[in-house]
Amino acid sequence: MSNCAIVGINWGDEGKGRMVDLITENYDIVVRYQGGGNAGHTVINEFGKFALHLLPSGIFRQGVVNVLGNGVALDPENLLHEIETVMKKGVKLDETNLKISDRASLLLPWHRDLDALEEARLADKKYGSTRQGIAPFYSDKYQKKTVLAGELFYPEKLEEHLRELLEWKNLTLTRVYGAQPYTMDDLMRWVDDYANKIKPYVADTGKLLRQAEAEGKNVLFEAQLGALRDLDFGIVPYTTSSNTTAAFAPIGSGCPGAKIDEVIGVVKAYSTCVGEGPFTCEWFGEEAAKLREAGGEYGAKTGRPRRVGPIDIVATRYGVQVQAATCIALTKLDVLSYMDKIPVCTHYISGGEQTDEFPFPAALPEALPVTEYLPGWQTDISGCRKWEDLPEQARNYVKFIEERIGCHIGYVSVGPERDSIIVR
Ligand code: GDP
Repeated sequence: MSNCAIVGINWGDEGKGRMVDLITENYDIVVRYQGGGNAGHTVINEFGKFALHLLPSGIFRQGVVNVLGNGVALDPENLLHEIETVMKKGVKLDETNLKISDRASLLLPWHRDLDALEEARLADKKYGSTRQGIAPFYSDKYQKKTVLAGELFYPEKLEEHLRELLEWKNLTLTRVYGAQPYTMDDLMRWVDDYANKIKPYVADTGKLLRQAEAEGKNVLFEAQLGALRDLDFGIVPYTTSSNTTAAFAPIGSGCPGAKIDEVIGVVKAYSTCVGEGPFTCEWFGEEAAKLREAGGEYGAKTGRPRRVGPIDIVATRYGVQVQAATCIALTKLDVLSYMDKIPVCTHYISGGEQTDEFPFPAALPEALPVTEYLPGWQTDISGCRKWEDLPEQARNYVKFIEERIGCHIGYVSVGPERDSIIVR
């Protein structure tokens, strides 16, 4: 058995979906272990182009079982919409290749409302939430105030549980935010319209994973967002509300004892960041607009223009350490082909001194980037499939990053399509 986690090293949107789609052919099971419908994994393959939010990116491979683990924020409404979208494009999806953990907590209708209400209250201090209810969901989960997917099989207990939660949540909605309360009718309609429709996929996925382990099957753990958005190790408070790190994969998947043999950390050849928070290497103006256009940097979920900048060695090295990456996939190298010199943020100035250490969150907003330039290649590399096919300047750029971040770059991606990859 060989297990692998595919994780983001930076702020998310590094191209994880594309890497999972590529390597799923070597795996029997793909598990999403954290996060919800708040970010998108873009996958382009023979079925078309997809922005997956909750579905594991292994859904396109025949014979691969896809699991939504107990660690995800399971939003039945979003999930059903996504299932419908992929099925319409001819993808085979049923209860044999999609399984939802009976221990996954359900994102309830008020989570989205509370997300929007709190962002509105924060006004110009907002966190930049995608308003998918993720932060209120995880807060409630830790307060033990959500329902588990498996409760759908116990309708009477479910109704009683929802009634208790409703009474509690309406206090916050009405007294804290002055919003409309929910009624039991609202909730039961939501159960009928959405929650009950995911029931066929709900199973004891912990058992399934333990069996798979015993049979020596290969499991791929798929993360959402990146190390810098990790709830514990990221740029607090501009993180997401779950653990994006590989170490959480066994827990969020439902197989706490699983060993991860390989951690593929995905890094973009330049930096992007969606939403608020410090972004030390950020570019502005014309330079930024050009890079954003070249990379098509608009959010998969929200369409928001992403903030952009050169690759950030300080943040990336930290991400590699936090993820304990064993190998790096460098994506979107092709996007840099238009530049005559390639910028690299090599160090920070923090507290008046040059540093290689990623600063503590409170010190991060004042950090300044130190930028160096490497020669560009200014030729189309999207057709390259072998390391030797790349121009020398492109190879030097990859080697420079590899040396500085201290991790082998095993994959270089030169296009969004499945086969636009160089394995090194
Ligand atoms: P994820 O959330 O980490 O899966 O990343 P996103 O899907 O949000 O963003 C990655 C974007 O880059 C998607 O639009 C991909 O199709 C695209 N992409 C991935 N790898 C490459 C690449 O090597 N070159 C180019 N040009 N696009 C890529």
